[in-house]
Amino acid sequence: MPKGNFVVPTPINEPILAFTPGSKEKAELLETLQAMKANEVDVPMYIGSEEVRTGRKIRMSPPHDHQHTLGHFHEGDTSHVQLAVNAALGAKQAWADLSWEHRAAIFLKAADLIAGPYRARINAATMLGQSKNAFQAEIDAACELIDFFKFNVAFMQELYGQQPQSLPLTWNRMEYRPLEGFVFAVTPFNFTSIAANLPAAPALMGNTVIWKPAYSQVYSAQVIMEIFKEAGIPDGVINLIYVDGPVAGDVIFKNPDFAGLHFTGSTGVFKQLWKTIGENIDLYKSYPRVVGETGGKDFVIAHKTAHPKAVATGLVRGAFEFQGQKCSAASRAYIPANMWEEVKSYMIEDLKSMKMGDPEDFSNFVNAVIDERAFKKITKYIDEAKNDKLVDVVAGGNYDGSKGYFVEPTVLEAKDPMYTTMCEEIFGPVLTIYVYQPERFEETLDLVDQTSPYALTGAVFAQDRYAIELATKKLVNAAGNFYINDKPTGAVVGQQPFGGARGSGTNDKAGAMMNLLRWVSARTIKENFVSPTNYRYPFLGE
Ligand code: NAD
Repeated sequence: MPKGNFVVPTPINEPILAFTPGSKEKAELLETLQAMKANEVDVPMYIGSEEVRTGRKIRMSPPHDHQHTLGHFHEGDTSHVQLAVNAALGAKQAWADLSWEHRAAIFLKAADLIAGPYRARINAATMLGQSKNAFQAEIDAACELIDFFKFNVAFMQELYGQQPQSLPLTWNRMEYRPLEGFVFAVTPFNFTSIAANLPAAPALMGNTVIWKPAYSQVYSAQVIMEIFKEAGIPDGVINLIYVDGPVAGDVIFKNPDFAGLHFTGSTGVFKQLWKTIGENIDLYKSYPRVVGETGGKDFVIAHKTAHPKAVATGLVRGAFEFQGQKCSAASRAYIPANMWEEVKSYMIEDLKSMKMGDPEDFSNFVNAVIDERAFKKITKYIDEAKNDKLVDVVAGGNYDGSKGYFVEPTVLEAKDPMYTTMCEEIFGPVLTIYVYQPERFEETLDLVDQTSPYALTGAVFAQDRYAIELATKKLVNAAGNFYINDKPTGAVVGQQPFGGARGSGTNDKAGAMMNLLRWVSARTIKENFVSPTNYRYPFLGE
Protein backbone atom coordinates (compact mmCIF):
# COMPACT_ATOMS: atom_id res chain seq x y z
CA MET A 1 0.00 0.00 0.00
CA PRO A 2 1.25 3.54 -0.71
CA LYS A 3 3.12 5.43 1.98
CA GLY A 4 1.98 8.87 0.92
CA ASN A 5 -1.10 10.54 -0.49
CA PHE A 6 0.21 10.67 -4.01
CA VAL A 7 -1.26 13.31 -6.28
CA VAL A 8 -1.61 12.40 -9.94
CA PRO A 9 -0.55 14.91 -12.61
CA THR A 10 -3.29 17.42 -13.46
CA PRO A 11 -4.72 16.35 -16.83
CA ILE A 12 -4.75 18.82 -19.69
CA ASN A 13 -6.48 18.06 -23.00
CA GLU A 14 -4.01 16.86 -25.58
CA PRO A 15 -3.29 19.59 -28.18
CA ILE A 16 -4.44 18.57 -31.67
CA LEU A 17 -1.72 18.40 -34.31
CA ALA A 18 -2.63 20.38 -37.43
CA PHE A 19 -0.95 18.32 -40.21
CA THR A 20 -0.47 21.48 -42.26
CA PRO A 21 1.36 21.17 -45.59
CA GLY A 22 5.09 20.73 -44.98
CA SER A 23 4.68 19.96 -41.27
CA LYS A 24 6.84 17.39 -39.51
CA GLU A 25 3.79 15.47 -38.29
CA LYS A 26 2.34 15.23 -41.78
CA ALA A 27 5.59 13.84 -43.19
CA GLU A 28 5.81 11.29 -40.38
CA LEU A 29 2.20 10.22 -40.80
CA LEU A 30 2.54 9.79 -44.58
CA GLU A 31 5.68 7.72 -44.11
CA THR A 32 3.93 5.54 -41.51
CA LEU A 33 0.91 5.06 -43.78
CA GLN A 34 3.16 3.86 -46.60
CA ALA A 35 5.08 1.51 -44.34
CA MET A 36 1.92 0.03 -42.81
CA LYS A 37 0.25 -0.44 -46.18
CA ALA A 38 3.29 -2.23 -47.53
CA ASN A 39 3.46 -4.69 -44.65
CA GLU A 40 0.64 -7.22 -44.21
CA VAL A 41 0.09 -7.98 -40.54
CA ASP A 42 -0.86 -11.27 -38.92
CA VAL A 43 -2.90 -10.39 -35.86
CA PRO A 44 -3.32 -12.88 -33.03
CA MET A 45 -5.78 -12.85 -30.16
CA TYR A 46 -4.20 -11.99 -26.81
CA ILE A 47 -5.30 -14.35 -24.08
CA GLY A 48 -3.35 -14.35 -20.81
CA SER A 49 0.32 -14.53 -21.75
CA GLU A 50 -0.43 -16.19 -25.11
CA GLU A 51 -0.72 -14.82 -28.61
CA VAL A 52 -3.31 -17.15 -30.08
CA ARG A 53 -3.36 -17.96 -33.80
CA THR A 54 -6.18 -20.27 -34.84
CA GLY A 55 -5.48 -20.37 -38.57
CA ARG A 56 -9.04 -19.18 -39.27
CA LYS A 57 -7.87 -15.99 -40.90
CA ILE A 58 -10.08 -13.02 -41.67
CA ARG A 59 -8.84 -10.45 -44.16
CA MET A 60 -8.62 -6.77 -43.23
CA SER A 61 -8.80 -4.09 -45.92
CA PRO A 62 -9.22 -0.31 -46.05
CA PRO A 63 -12.87 0.68 -46.60
CA HIS A 64 -11.66 3.12 -49.29
CA ASP A 65 -9.71 0.42 -51.16
CA HIS A 66 -11.33 -2.92 -50.43
CA GLN A 67 -9.10 -4.92 -52.78
CA HIS A 68 -6.00 -4.01 -50.80
CA THR A 69 -5.04 -6.36 -47.97
CA LEU A 70 -3.78 -4.85 -44.73
CA GLY A 71 -3.38 -8.25 -43.14
CA HIS A 72 -5.41 -10.94 -41.40
CA PHE A 73 -6.60 -11.64 -37.90
CA HIS A 74 -7.24 -15.01 -36.34
CA GLU A 75 -10.84 -15.72 -35.46
CA GLY A 76 -11.61 -17.70 -32.33
CA ASP A 77 -14.50 -19.84 -31.10
CA THR A 78 -16.16 -20.63 -27.78
CA SER A 79 -13.05 -22.41 -26.50
CA HIS A 80 -11.08 -19.16 -26.83
CA VAL A 81 -13.76 -17.22 -25.01
CA GLN A 82 -13.49 -19.73 -22.18
CA LEU A 83 -9.69 -19.40 -22.19
CA ALA A 84 -10.07 -15.63 -21.96
CA VAL A 85 -12.47 -15.96 -19.02
CA ASN A 86 -9.98 -18.26 -17.27
CA ALA A 87 -7.13 -15.83 -17.97
CA ALA A 88 -9.11 -12.87 -16.63
CA LEU A 89 -10.08 -14.73 -13.47
CA GLY A 90 -6.50 -16.00 -13.05
CA ALA A 91 -5.03 -12.50 -13.26
CA LYS A 92 -7.70 -11.00 -11.00
CA GLN A 93 -6.24 -11.24 -7.51
CA ALA A 94 -2.79 -9.86 -8.26
CA TRP A 95 -4.21 -6.97 -10.29
CA ALA A 96 -6.87 -6.09 -7.72
CA ASP A 97 -4.20 -6.12 -4.98
CA LEU A 98 -1.76 -3.88 -6.85
CA SER A 99 -1.54 -0.41 -5.30
CA TRP A 100 -3.58 2.11 -7.20
CA GLU A 101 -0.65 4.34 -8.07
CA HIS A 102 0.87 1.53 -10.12
CA ARG A 103 -2.36 1.07 -12.05
CA ALA A 104 -2.41 4.82 -12.56
CA ALA A 105 1.20 4.84 -13.73
CA ILE A 106 0.51 2.19 -16.38
CA PHE A 107 -2.30 4.22 -17.95
CA LEU A 108 -0.37 7.49 -17.71
CA LYS A 109 2.48 5.75 -19.45
CA ALA A 110 0.09 4.44 -22.13
CA ALA A 111 -1.10 8.03 -22.69
CA ASP A 112 2.45 9.28 -23.14
CA LEU A 113 3.29 6.42 -25.49
CA ILE A 114 0.34 7.43 -27.67
CA ALA A 115 1.26 11.11 -27.51
CA GLY A 116 4.84 10.29 -28.55
CA PRO A 117 6.23 7.16 -30.19
CA TYR A 118 2.89 5.55 -31.13
CA ARG A 119 1.04 8.61 -32.35
CA ALA A 120 1.69 8.20 -36.06
CA ARG A 121 1.03 4.44 -35.91
CA ILE A 122 -2.30 4.66 -34.11
CA ASN A 123 -3.42 7.48 -36.40
CA ALA A 124 -2.29 5.63 -39.53
CA ALA A 125 -4.02 2.42 -38.39
CA THR A 126 -7.26 4.35 -37.85
CA MET A 127 -6.97 6.07 -41.24
CA LEU A 128 -6.33 2.80 -43.07
CA GLY A 129 -8.62 0.48 -41.13
CA GLN A 130 -11.56 2.81 -40.48
CA SER A 131 -11.13 5.34 -43.32
CA LYS A 132 -10.74 8.48 -41.23
CA ASN A 133 -8.95 11.53 -42.57
CA ALA A 134 -5.85 12.69 -40.67
CA PHE A 135 -7.77 15.18 -38.55
CA GLN A 136 -10.55 12.73 -37.63
CA ALA A 137 -7.96 10.09 -36.73
CA GLU A 138 -5.94 12.57 -34.65
CA ILE A 139 -8.91 13.81 -32.60
CA ASP A 140 -10.03 10.23 -31.96
CA ALA A 141 -7.14 7.76 -31.83
CA ALA A 142 -4.54 10.14 -30.44
CA CYS A 143 -6.13 13.04 -28.55
CA GLU A 144 -9.31 11.51 -27.15
CA LEU A 145 -7.56 8.34 -26.12
CA ILE A 146 -4.75 10.22 -24.38
CA ASP A 147 -7.42 12.30 -22.63
CA PHE A 148 -9.42 9.23 -21.59
CA PHE A 149 -6.36 7.72 -19.89
CA LYS A 150 -5.11 10.90 -18.22
CA PHE A 151 -8.48 12.19 -17.07
CA ASN A 152 -9.64 8.79 -15.85
CA VAL A 153 -6.55 8.51 -13.66
CA ALA A 154 -7.39 11.89 -12.12
CA PHE A 155 -11.07 10.88 -11.73
CA MET A 156 -9.97 7.69 -10.00
CA GLN A 157 -8.04 9.71 -7.46
CA GLU A 158 -10.99 12.06 -7.01
CA LEU A 159 -13.30 9.09 -6.48
CA TYR A 160 -10.98 7.52 -3.93
CA GLY A 161 -11.02 10.88 -2.15
CA GLN A 162 -14.78 10.65 -1.55
CA GLN A 163 -14.77 9.67 2.11
CA PRO A 164 -17.50 9.71 4.76
CA GLN A 165 -17.58 11.83 7.92
CA SER A 166 -16.55 10.46 11.31
CA LEU A 167 -17.81 11.35 14.79
CA PRO A 168 -15.52 11.31 17.85
CA LEU A 169 -14.25 7.84 18.79
CA THR A 170 -14.79 6.47 15.29
CA TRP A 171 -13.15 6.54 11.91
CA ASN A 172 -15.32 5.79 8.85
CA ARG A 173 -13.65 4.88 5.62
CA MET A 174 -14.71 3.97 2.09
CA GLU A 175 -12.83 1.48 0.03
CA TYR A 176 -13.55 1.30 -3.73
CA ARG A 177 -13.19 -2.39 -4.47
CA PRO A 178 -13.07 -3.71 -8.02
CA LEU A 179 -16.08 -5.84 -8.93
CA GLU A 180 -15.98 -9.52 -7.99
CA GLY A 181 -15.47 -11.42 -11.22
CA PHE A 182 -14.57 -10.14 -14.69
CA VAL A 183 -15.83 -7.39 -17.02
CA PHE A 184 -16.81 -7.88 -20.69
CA ALA A 185 -16.00 -4.94 -22.99
CA VAL A 186 -17.79 -4.97 -26.36
CA THR A 187 -16.68 -2.17 -28.64
CA PRO A 188 -17.85 -0.50 -31.89
CA PHE A 189 -15.98 0.16 -35.12
CA ASN A 190 -16.21 3.90 -35.23
CA PHE A 191 -13.89 5.22 -32.52
CA THR A 192 -10.45 3.82 -31.75
CA SER A 193 -10.51 5.75 -28.47
CA ILE A 194 -13.81 4.16 -27.37
CA ALA A 195 -12.50 0.72 -28.30
CA ALA A 196 -9.53 1.27 -26.00
CA ASN A 197 -11.38 3.05 -23.22
CA LEU A 198 -14.06 0.41 -22.69
CA PRO A 199 -11.62 -2.25 -21.48
CA ALA A 200 -9.24 0.34 -19.96
CA ALA A 201 -11.67 2.11 -17.61
CA PRO A 202 -12.69 -1.05 -15.68
CA ALA A 203 -9.06 -2.25 -15.73
CA LEU A 204 -7.89 1.05 -14.24
CA MET A 205 -10.27 0.46 -11.33
CA GLY A 206 -8.70 -2.96 -10.64
CA ASN A 207 -10.87 -5.25 -12.78
CA THR A 208 -9.75 -7.79 -15.33
CA VAL A 209 -11.40 -7.68 -18.72
CA ILE A 210 -12.30 -9.60 -21.84
CA TRP A 211 -12.36 -7.26 -24.80
CA LYS A 212 -14.27 -8.06 -27.99
CA PRO A 213 -13.88 -5.38 -30.69
CA ALA A 214 -15.88 -5.06 -33.92
CA TYR A 215 -14.16 -7.00 -36.74
CA SER A 216 -13.85 -3.80 -38.74
CA GLN A 217 -11.73 -2.22 -35.99
CA VAL A 218 -9.27 -5.07 -35.31
CA TYR A 219 -6.54 -3.36 -37.35
CA SER A 220 -6.26 -0.46 -34.88
CA ALA A 221 -7.18 -2.67 -31.88
CA GLN A 222 -3.92 -4.52 -32.50
CA VAL A 223 -1.96 -1.25 -32.10
CA ILE A 224 -3.86 -0.46 -28.88
CA MET A 225 -2.89 -3.87 -27.53
CA GLU A 226 0.76 -3.23 -28.37
CA ILE A 227 0.55 0.01 -26.41
CA PHE A 228 -1.14 -1.71 -23.45
CA LYS A 229 1.67 -4.30 -23.44
CA GLU A 230 4.43 -1.71 -23.62
CA ALA A 231 2.80 0.37 -20.90
CA GLY A 232 3.03 -2.68 -18.64
CA ILE A 233 -0.51 -4.03 -18.33
CA PRO A 234 0.14 -7.51 -16.92
CA ASP A 235 -0.90 -10.62 -18.86
CA GLY A 236 -4.53 -11.58 -18.36
CA VAL A 237 -5.70 -8.12 -17.28
CA ILE A 238 -7.03 -7.22 -20.75
CA ASN A 239 -7.67 -10.20 -23.01
CA LEU A 240 -8.42 -9.41 -26.65
CA ILE A 241 -10.53 -11.91 -28.58
CA TYR A 242 -12.02 -11.94 -32.08
CA VAL A 243 -15.20 -13.95 -32.07
CA ASP A 244 -18.68 -13.42 -33.35
CA GLY A 245 -20.79 -11.50 -30.80
CA PRO A 246 -23.24 -14.31 -29.97
CA VAL A 247 -20.34 -16.79 -29.65
CA ALA A 248 -18.77 -14.63 -26.95
CA GLY A 249 -22.10 -13.99 -25.27
CA ASP A 250 -22.88 -17.66 -25.13
CA VAL A 251 -19.92 -18.35 -22.84
CA ILE A 252 -19.64 -15.07 -20.98
CA PHE A 253 -23.26 -14.51 -20.02
CA LYS A 254 -23.48 -18.01 -18.58
CA ASN A 255 -20.51 -17.57 -16.29
CA PRO A 256 -21.31 -16.97 -12.58
CA ASP A 257 -18.32 -14.59 -12.33
CA PHE A 258 -19.62 -12.25 -15.04
CA ALA A 259 -19.59 -8.93 -13.19
CA GLY A 260 -20.15 -6.21 -15.77
CA LEU A 261 -20.74 -5.28 -19.40
CA HIS A 262 -19.10 -2.17 -20.86
CA PHE A 263 -20.75 -1.77 -24.25
CA THR A 264 -20.84 0.78 -27.03
CA GLY A 265 -22.69 -0.01 -30.23
CA SER A 266 -26.18 -0.13 -31.62
CA THR A 267 -29.33 -0.01 -29.53
CA GLY A 268 -30.70 -3.32 -30.85
CA VAL A 269 -27.58 -5.25 -29.88
CA PHE A 270 -27.45 -3.66 -26.43
CA LYS A 271 -31.08 -4.53 -25.74
CA GLN A 272 -30.40 -8.11 -26.80
CA LEU A 273 -27.42 -8.35 -24.44
CA TRP A 274 -29.41 -6.81 -21.57
CA LYS A 275 -32.20 -9.36 -22.13
CA THR A 276 -29.73 -12.26 -22.05
CA ILE A 277 -28.18 -10.95 -18.85
CA GLY A 278 -31.65 -10.60 -17.33
CA GLU A 279 -32.58 -14.14 -18.29
CA ASN A 280 -29.40 -15.45 -16.64
CA ILE A 281 -29.61 -13.33 -13.49
CA ASP A 282 -29.95 -16.33 -11.19
CA LEU A 283 -26.58 -17.64 -12.36
CA TYR A 284 -24.52 -14.69 -11.23
CA LYS A 285 -22.71 -14.18 -7.92
CA SER A 286 -23.42 -10.43 -8.04
CA TYR A 287 -25.77 -8.17 -9.98
CA PRO A 288 -23.75 -7.36 -13.10
CA ARG A 289 -23.14 -3.72 -13.94
CA VAL A 290 -24.65 -3.04 -17.35
CA VAL A 291 -23.28 0.06 -19.04
CA GLY A 292 -24.11 0.79 -22.65
CA GLU A 293 -23.80 3.81 -24.90
CA THR A 294 -25.83 3.19 -28.02
CA GLY A 295 -27.44 4.75 -31.09
CA GLY A 296 -28.64 8.25 -31.83
CA LYS A 297 -30.83 10.28 -34.13
CA ASP A 298 -29.23 13.57 -33.36
CA PHE A 299 -31.00 16.83 -34.14
CA VAL A 300 -30.28 20.42 -34.98
CA ILE A 301 -33.06 22.99 -34.62
CA ALA A 302 -32.58 26.53 -35.82
CA HIS A 303 -34.68 29.42 -34.55
CA LYS A 304 -35.65 32.25 -36.89
CA THR A 305 -33.00 34.45 -35.20
CA ALA A 306 -30.09 32.08 -35.86
CA HIS A 307 -27.21 33.06 -38.13
CA PRO A 308 -27.77 31.08 -41.36
CA LYS A 309 -24.04 30.65 -42.03
CA ALA A 310 -23.44 29.25 -38.53
CA VAL A 311 -26.36 26.85 -38.99
CA ALA A 312 -25.04 25.66 -42.36
CA THR A 313 -21.51 25.16 -41.02
CA GLY A 314 -22.81 23.30 -37.94
CA LEU A 315 -24.82 21.02 -40.22
CA VAL A 316 -22.08 20.34 -42.73
CA ARG A 317 -19.49 19.54 -40.08
CA GLY A 318 -21.94 17.87 -37.71
CA ALA A 319 -23.48 15.61 -40.35
CA PHE A 320 -20.63 14.70 -42.65
CA GLU A 321 -17.38 14.48 -40.73
CA PHE A 322 -16.26 10.84 -40.68
CA GLN A 323 -19.04 10.18 -43.19
CA GLY A 324 -21.72 10.71 -40.53
CA GLN A 325 -20.57 7.57 -38.72
CA LYS A 326 -20.53 9.24 -35.32
CA CYS A 327 -23.18 8.34 -32.80
CA SER A 328 -23.47 12.11 -32.29
CA ALA A 329 -23.75 13.05 -35.99
CA ALA A 330 -26.46 15.52 -36.95
CA SER A 331 -28.95 13.50 -38.97
CA ARG A 332 -32.19 15.48 -38.77
CA ALA A 333 -32.54 19.24 -38.85
CA TYR A 334 -35.47 21.60 -38.40
CA ILE A 335 -34.93 24.85 -40.27
CA PRO A 336 -37.37 27.79 -40.25
CA ALA A 337 -38.71 28.74 -43.66
CA ASN A 338 -37.37 32.33 -43.34
CA MET A 339 -33.77 31.11 -43.65
CA TRP A 340 -33.95 27.77 -45.45
CA GLU A 341 -32.98 29.08 -48.90
CA GLU A 342 -29.95 30.83 -47.45
CA VAL A 343 -28.88 27.85 -45.30
CA LYS A 344 -29.38 25.57 -48.29
CA SER A 345 -27.22 27.67 -50.59
CA TYR A 346 -24.39 27.84 -48.03
CA MET A 347 -24.54 24.09 -47.56
CA ILE A 348 -24.55 23.38 -51.30
CA GLU A 349 -21.59 25.71 -51.72
CA ASP A 350 -19.67 23.90 -48.96
CA LEU A 351 -20.56 20.47 -50.28
CA LYS A 352 -19.42 21.39 -53.79
CA SER A 353 -15.98 22.20 -52.44
CA MET A 354 -15.78 19.03 -50.34
CA LYS A 355 -13.59 16.32 -51.85
CA MET A 356 -14.18 12.62 -51.29
CA GLY A 357 -11.58 9.86 -51.53
CA ASP A 358 -8.63 8.12 -49.92
CA PRO A 359 -7.55 9.60 -46.55
CA GLU A 360 -3.93 9.53 -47.69
CA ASP A 361 -4.80 12.48 -49.90
CA PHE A 362 -5.11 15.15 -47.21
CA SER A 363 -7.35 17.31 -49.37
CA ASN A 364 -10.18 14.79 -48.95
CA PHE A 365 -12.70 15.81 -46.29
CA VAL A 366 -14.90 12.75 -46.88
CA ASN A 367 -13.65 9.17 -47.00
CA ALA A 368 -15.39 5.80 -47.30
CA VAL A 369 -18.06 4.24 -45.08
CA ILE A 370 -16.92 1.28 -43.05
CA ASP A 371 -17.97 -1.78 -45.05
CA GLU A 372 -20.24 -3.29 -47.66
CA ARG A 373 -23.07 -3.86 -45.21
CA ALA A 374 -23.08 -0.20 -44.17
CA PHE A 375 -22.78 0.88 -47.81
CA LYS A 376 -25.85 -1.17 -48.81
CA LYS A 377 -27.88 0.01 -45.82
CA ILE A 378 -27.10 3.70 -46.41
CA THR A 379 -27.64 3.62 -50.16
CA LYS A 380 -30.98 1.84 -49.72
CA TYR A 381 -32.22 4.83 -47.70
CA ILE A 382 -30.94 7.15 -50.44
CA ASP A 383 -32.61 5.17 -53.23
CA GLU A 384 -35.91 5.09 -51.38
CA ALA A 385 -35.73 8.84 -50.82
CA LYS A 386 -35.02 9.43 -54.53
CA ASN A 387 -38.22 7.54 -55.36
CA ASP A 388 -40.39 9.28 -52.80
CA LYS A 389 -42.48 12.22 -54.01
CA LEU A 390 -42.44 13.79 -50.57
CA VAL A 391 -38.65 14.01 -50.50
CA ASP A 392 -36.28 16.23 -52.46
CA VAL A 393 -32.62 15.38 -52.85
CA VAL A 394 -31.05 18.76 -52.13
CA ALA A 395 -27.42 17.65 -52.48
CA GLY A 396 -25.44 14.48 -53.13
CA GLY A 397 -27.28 11.22 -53.58
CA ASN A 398 -24.57 9.47 -55.60
CA TYR A 399 -22.45 6.56 -54.49
CA ASP A 400 -19.85 4.19 -55.87
CA GLY A 401 -18.69 1.00 -54.18
CA SER A 402 -16.35 -0.24 -56.91
CA LYS A 403 -13.00 0.67 -55.33
CA GLY A 404 -14.09 1.77 -51.89
CA TYR A 405 -17.42 2.27 -50.15
CA PHE A 406 -17.97 5.89 -51.14
CA VAL A 407 -21.25 7.65 -50.48
CA GLU A 408 -21.60 11.35 -51.30
CA PRO A 409 -22.71 13.60 -48.46
CA THR A 410 -26.44 13.69 -49.06
CA VAL A 411 -28.98 16.27 -47.95
CA LEU A 412 -32.66 15.37 -48.19
CA GLU A 413 -35.61 17.65 -47.65
CA ALA A 414 -38.63 15.79 -46.29
CA LYS A 415 -42.12 17.26 -46.40
CA ASP A 416 -43.21 14.83 -43.70
CA PRO A 417 -41.41 15.35 -40.36
CA MET A 418 -41.95 11.66 -39.60
CA TYR A 419 -40.38 10.45 -42.86
CA THR A 420 -38.14 7.36 -42.27
CA THR A 421 -34.87 9.24 -42.51
CA MET A 422 -36.09 11.78 -39.93
CA CYS A 423 -36.62 8.94 -37.44
CA GLU A 424 -34.20 6.05 -37.97
CA GLU A 425 -30.46 5.94 -37.32
CA ILE A 426 -28.77 5.61 -40.72
CA PHE A 427 -25.16 5.92 -39.53
CA GLY A 428 -23.89 7.41 -42.74
CA PRO A 429 -23.56 10.74 -44.56
CA VAL A 430 -27.29 11.46 -44.91
CA LEU A 431 -28.92 14.52 -43.37
CA THR A 432 -32.65 15.12 -43.61
CA ILE A 433 -34.14 18.59 -43.30
CA TYR A 434 -37.67 19.50 -42.31
CA VAL A 435 -38.63 23.10 -43.01
CA TYR A 436 -41.08 24.56 -40.49
CA GLN A 437 -42.97 27.82 -40.25
CA PRO A 438 -40.96 30.21 -38.02
CA GLU A 439 -43.94 31.00 -35.76
CA ARG A 440 -44.29 27.28 -34.94
CA PHE A 441 -40.99 27.08 -33.04
CA GLU A 442 -42.52 25.76 -29.83
CA GLU A 443 -44.58 23.02 -31.56
CA THR A 444 -41.49 22.08 -33.55
CA LEU A 445 -39.58 21.61 -30.29
CA ASP A 446 -42.28 19.07 -29.30
CA LEU A 447 -41.79 17.37 -32.63
CA VAL A 448 -38.02 17.19 -32.07
CA ASP A 449 -38.62 15.69 -28.64
CA GLN A 450 -41.10 13.06 -29.80
CA THR A 451 -39.80 11.97 -33.19
CA SER A 452 -37.22 9.38 -32.20
CA PRO A 453 -36.65 6.89 -29.38
CA TYR A 454 -33.07 8.13 -29.02
CA ALA A 455 -31.73 10.97 -26.88
CA LEU A 456 -28.02 11.30 -27.50
CA THR A 457 -27.04 14.72 -28.84
CA GLY A 458 -28.84 17.77 -30.14
CA ALA A 459 -28.26 21.42 -30.89
CA VAL A 460 -30.20 24.66 -30.99
CA PHE A 461 -29.05 27.64 -33.04
CA ALA A 462 -30.59 30.99 -32.03
CA GLN A 463 -29.67 34.54 -31.11
CA ASP A 464 -32.86 35.12 -29.11
CA ARG A 465 -32.12 34.17 -25.49
CA TYR A 466 -35.79 33.36 -24.76
CA ALA A 467 -35.74 30.89 -27.62
CA ILE A 468 -32.54 29.32 -26.29
CA GLU A 469 -34.07 28.97 -22.84
CA LEU A 470 -37.29 27.53 -24.23
CA ALA A 471 -35.41 24.93 -26.29
CA THR A 472 -33.17 24.03 -23.35
CA LYS A 473 -36.21 23.42 -21.15
CA LYS A 474 -38.47 21.66 -23.67
CA LEU A 475 -35.68 19.39 -24.88
CA VAL A 476 -34.48 18.52 -21.37
CA ASN A 477 -34.81 14.77 -21.98
CA ALA A 478 -34.16 14.77 -25.71
CA ALA A 479 -30.36 14.73 -25.51
CA GLY A 480 -27.66 13.76 -23.00
CA ASN A 481 -25.33 16.24 -24.72
CA PHE A 482 -27.03 19.50 -25.69
CA TYR A 483 -25.30 22.21 -27.69
CA ILE A 484 -26.16 25.88 -28.04
CA ASN A 485 -24.97 27.50 -31.27
CA ASP A 486 -22.61 24.62 -31.98
CA LYS A 487 -22.61 21.36 -33.90
CA PRO A 488 -23.74 18.32 -31.90
CA THR A 489 -20.48 16.37 -32.39
CA GLY A 490 -16.95 16.64 -31.03
CA ALA A 491 -17.36 16.17 -27.27
CA VAL A 492 -14.03 16.53 -25.46
CA VAL A 493 -13.08 14.44 -22.42
CA GLY A 494 -13.13 16.53 -19.26
CA GLN A 495 -15.10 19.30 -21.02
CA GLN A 496 -18.32 17.71 -22.31
CA PRO A 497 -18.77 14.32 -20.58
CA PHE A 498 -20.50 12.19 -23.19
CA GLY A 499 -23.58 9.97 -23.16
CA GLY A 500 -27.29 9.96 -23.91
CA ALA A 501 -30.47 8.72 -22.35
CA ARG A 502 -33.72 7.03 -23.51
CA GLY A 503 -32.83 4.54 -26.28
CA SER A 504 -29.30 5.97 -26.51
CA GLY A 505 -27.86 4.31 -23.47
CA THR A 506 -27.40 4.22 -19.74
CA ASN A 507 -25.75 7.67 -19.78
CA ASP A 508 -22.80 6.78 -17.59
CA LYS A 509 -20.73 9.47 -19.33
CA ALA A 510 -17.54 8.02 -20.75
CA GLY A 511 -14.42 9.77 -19.49
CA ALA A 512 -16.07 11.00 -16.29
CA MET A 513 -16.04 9.94 -12.65
CA MET A 514 -19.62 8.68 -13.05
CA ASN A 515 -18.39 5.98 -15.38
CA LEU A 516 -15.62 4.80 -13.06
CA LEU A 517 -18.15 4.45 -10.27
CA ARG A 518 -19.78 1.63 -12.23
CA TRP A 519 -16.59 -0.47 -12.08
CA VAL A 520 -16.23 -0.49 -8.31
CA SER A 521 -18.27 -1.74 -5.42
CA ALA A 522 -17.76 0.43 -2.37
CA ARG A 523 -17.04 -1.11 1.01
CA THR A 524 -17.75 1.04 4.05
CA ILE A 525 -15.48 0.41 7.00
CA LYS A 526 -16.41 1.71 10.45
CA GLU A 527 -13.79 1.49 13.15
CA ASN A 528 -14.67 2.12 16.77
CA PHE A 529 -11.70 3.29 18.87
CA VAL A 530 -13.28 2.65 22.28
CA SER A 531 -15.74 -0.21 22.03
CA PRO A 532 -18.78 -0.14 24.37
CA THR A 533 -18.58 -2.70 27.14
CA ASN A 534 -22.10 -2.43 28.56
CA TYR A 535 -25.19 -3.31 26.53
CA ARG A 536 -27.49 -1.07 28.63
CA TYR A 537 -28.54 2.33 27.17
CA PRO A 538 -29.19 5.29 29.54
CA PHE A 539 -32.95 5.21 28.86
CA LEU A 540 -33.13 1.80 30.53
CA GLY A 541 -32.34 3.57 33.86
CA GLU A 542 -35.87 3.32 35.33
P1 NAD B 1 -22.85 -2.83 -33.49
O1 NAD B 1 -23.95 -2.81 -32.51
O2 NAD B 1 -23.07 -3.47 -34.79
O3 NAD B 1 -21.59 -3.58 -32.84
C1 NAD B 1 -21.04 -3.18 -31.60
C2 NAD B 1 -20.30 -4.35 -31.00
O4 NAD B 1 -21.25 -5.34 -30.61
C3 NAD B 1 -19.34 -5.05 -31.96
O5 NAD B 1 -18.19 -5.45 -31.27
C4 NAD B 1 -20.15 -6.24 -32.41
O6 NAD B 1 -19.36 -7.32 -32.87
C5 NAD B 1 -20.85 -6.60 -31.12
N1 NAD B 1 -22.03 -7.46 -31.26
C6 NAD B 1 -22.95 -7.47 -32.24
N2 NAD B 1 -23.90 -8.41 -31.98
C7 NAD B 1 -23.56 -8.99 -30.80
C8 NAD B 1 -24.13 -10.00 -29.99
N3 NAD B 1 -25.26 -10.59 -30.33
N4 NAD B 1 -23.49 -10.34 -28.84
C9 NAD B 1 -22.36 -9.72 -28.45
N5 NAD B 1 -21.78 -8.73 -29.18
C10 NAD B 1 -22.37 -8.37 -30.33
O7 NAD B 1 -22.35 -1.33 -33.67
P2 NAD B 1 -21.25 -0.73 -34.64
O8 NAD B 1 -21.78 -0.78 -36.04
O9 NAD B 1 -19.90 -1.29 -34.38
O10 NAD B 1 -21.21 0.79 -34.15
C11 NAD B 1 -22.16 1.71 -34.54
C12 NAD B 1 -23.22 1.90 -33.48
O11 NAD B 1 -22.61 2.28 -32.27
C13 NAD B 1 -24.20 3.00 -33.83
O12 NAD B 1 -25.49 2.62 -33.46
C14 NAD B 1 -23.71 4.16 -32.97
O13 NAD B 1 -24.69 5.12 -32.68
C15 NAD B 1 -23.22 3.45 -31.75
N6 NAD B 1 -22.25 4.24 -31.00
C16 NAD B 1 -22.68 4.87 -29.87
C17 NAD B 1 -21.79 5.66 -29.14
C18 NAD B 1 -22.24 6.36 -27.90
O14 NAD B 1 -21.40 6.84 -27.17
N7 NAD B 1 -23.53 6.45 -27.64
C19 NAD B 1 -20.48 5.79 -29.58
C20 NAD B 1 -20.08 5.13 -30.73
C21 NAD B 1 -20.97 4.35 -31.44
